[in-house]
Amino acid sequence: MTDFTDDTVAVHDETEKIVAVNINKIYKVRQKDSEKLTEFQALKNINLTVKKEEFLVIVGPSGCGKSTFLDMVAGLAHPTSGEIYMDEKLITGPALDRGIVLQGYALFPWRSIRKNVEFGLEIKKIPRKERTEISQRFIDLVNLHGFEDRYPHELSGGMKQRVAIARALAYDPEVLLMDEPFAAVDAQTRESLQEELLRIWEKTKKTIIFITHSIDEAIFLADRVVVMSADPGEIKETINIELPRPRDGIRASAEFGRLRQKIWQLLQNGHADTEELRQSDNLNDRAV
Ligand code: ADP
Ligand code: MG
Repeated sequence: MTDFTDDTVAVHDETEKIVAVNINKIYKVRQKDSEKLTEFQALKNINLTVKKEEFLVIVGPSGCGKSTFLDMVAGLAHPTSGEIYMDEKLITGPALDRGIVLQGYALFPWRSIRKNVEFGLEIKKIPRKERTEISQRFIDLVNLHGFEDRYPHELSGGMKQRVAIARALAYDPEVLLMDEPFAAVDAQTRESLQEELLRIWEKTKKTIIFITHSIDEAIFLADRVVVMSADPGEIKETINIELPRPRDGIRASAEFGRLRQKIWQLLQNGHADTEELRQSDNLNDRAV
């Protein structure tokens, strides 16, 4: 965290990219069969620092506030109290320095793949010729060469998600915010998207905050995994993932199994939703 010396000169730690300080989020919710509003604490005392070029994964049961937190980093939602900084600057709204990839693809159905990828570049008023060069580079990067003139409905779920990633990368954000981006694709496609994302991350050196429901996905991708608990949404523990990279074949290692077991236990404590997590990761079928 930043220190302020007596003469209020900030001592900035150059390795910090995103710093969340004492975040609380309280929603006013209507009770069933009542007009009365009650307060619901969705996030409680979240303190989190994401380092430059770090791949940080947040895992936790549904409803623990993962999306709420990511929306705040995106500038689309605001904390009830607390602040989030990016490079020392308070985040007050959305901007092109943060790219977002969501679960539901959110592509423009009336735009071709190329035009989808160029969307942010148009907003940035990048001239057409340069736009075409940039979009081609990112379409190639996500292995969609040859599909430039197709439309979203002509692509599979995995391909659509790759377009969404290319679109977010094309306008060169410093931070990539990903909210369960691979949740809607089949298991095999999901693993290949994870591998592809790691390859892209190593090439582009973005800072990534990635949310998932899957313990397996979290360990495979992350430098650090933040484990959250629900009601209220709190950080339970942060775990360094010191597995070597590249991570091909790492799922079979003993250390991977140990980490999986550890995170599973953390999530299990007091939450019924864990069964969902267990099933989503096929833990029963794997040697833990
Ligand atoms: P997650 O992404 O971890 O599943 P969310 O961040 O979507 O969780 O939601 C956290 C909690 O806040 C949930 O209990 C959800 O019902 C509640 N919540 C989210 N958005 C709102 C809202 N706009 N109004 C009231 N409650 C909300
Ligand atoms: Mg969510």
